[in-house]
Amino acid sequence: MSPAGRVQTLVIGSGAGGAVTALELARAGREVLVLEEGERHDLDHYGGTPTAAMERLYRRRGMTPILGRVPIGYVEGCAVGGSTEINSGFWHRAPRDILLRWKAHYDLCDAAESDLAPHYAWAEQMLGVTRSQRPWPASTTVFARGIEAMGWSYEEVARAAPGCRHTNTCAQGCPTGAKQGMSRSLIPQAEAAGARLLTRCRAMLLLRSGSRIEGVVASLREPDGSERLVRLEANQVFVCAGPTETPALLQRSGIRYHVGNTLRIHPYLKVAARFPEALDAESSVLPLLQVKEFAPELSLGGAYFTLGHLAMTLSDNWRELRPEMARHRHMAQYYVGVRGSGRGSVRPWKQAARCILPTMPES
Ligand SMILES: Cc1cc2nc3c(=O)[nH]c(=O)nc-3n(C[C@H](O)[C@H](O)[C@H](O)COP(=O)(O)OP(=O)(O)OC[C@H]3O[C@@H](n4cnc5c(N)ncnc54)[C@H](O)[C@@H]3O)c2cc1C
Repeated sequence: MSPAGRVQTLVIGSGAGGAVTALELARAGREVLVLEEGERHDLDHYGGTPTAAMERLYRRRGMTPILGRVPIGYVEGCAVGGSTEINSGFWHRAPRDILLRWKAHYDLCDAAESDLAPHYAWAEQMLGVTRSQRPWPASTTVFARGIEAMGWSYEEVARAAPGCRHTNTCAQGCPTGAKQGMSRSLIPQAEAAGARLLTRCRAMLLLRSGSRIEGVVASLREPDGSERLVRLEANQVFVCAGPTETPALLQRSGIRYHVGNTLRIHPYLKVAARFPEALDAESSVLPLLQVKEFAPELSLGGAYFTLGHLAMTLSDNWRELRPEMARHRHMAQYYVGVRGSGRGSVRPWKQAARCILPTMPES
């Protein structure tokens, strides 16, 4: 193992959580080192084919299974910026009923709507959150038509993608830089404020002394593919490694009490829809509306569309639905999002992998 380095503050992960933490601490004058398992990519590495993007930007190439009665494919980012590099940039403030539930269940303080409002305003300003400034694409217009015919209420969802050119590449990394993934927005600002970023560096274990965390042992991948272990000591360690890797790291480090037993996901069922007119959804931004009629239990909205994603949706009944692929120009994808009520658990498996086993839904 390489000799220990020492920093004031370590932040593990450079996604939404890590980037904000690093920026705020660096601006407050702390010495900050961010460890990121993934790599830093230029814009010209973004927007390629979904297969190339999955290899470059996704954890385990986008193949993390959630095991249970219904197997679910779970994806998250693994690159500078984390999942913000591959998400759709849709912006939501946490709904009031969720905040009230958190308060009631967990006695969460400082998280009432009024407490959070200035922080949301800050983030919205930093990320240029806005509604689309361009005419709606056809896949949005037909969606609006259908929703209105049903007499339901809907809204256009704002996105953290000012100047979006509707290239339909959110999930492959936005090649125009319009989407404000953390690699384009808060991480450069954190670096400008003095934070340092160590990429290809996976925190393996938190170093404990009694009840204090005093640093990490991390695995650093060299450009030639070899790995070496490094020991980094710190006065404070912030673990911002995302919803599965954070509990996995804590558990690997022997911190197990109340850790990794309450993973809650909100499954999205994809629906492929065919219309009389050509929509060319493959070359426009995903449908921008969300149906609020059935909130908070159910929501309907626009889903990402590529030929590969369409094939995946149709693959359940491929023999019968395969001919639909030829009509892809007339098709778009939508989702029905369900508020999850079950709880899953996250367990580290061997050293680097983990397996998620949902338990029975709550009554
Ligand atoms: C396909 C997709 C679409 C989405 N769409 C939206 C959307 O439209 N709107 C929305 O609000 N949300 C969306 N989300 C969710 C949103 O992106 C996440 O909630 C958010 O990014 C989570 O932030 P985080 O910091 O917790 O984790 P992440 O952003 O995932 O960041 C975690 C980072 O930690 C790194 N890391 C993990 N383990 C280690 C380790 N041991 N050592 C070092 N580094 C490590 C990871 O590589 C990663 O970079 C989407 C997510 C996905 C995957």
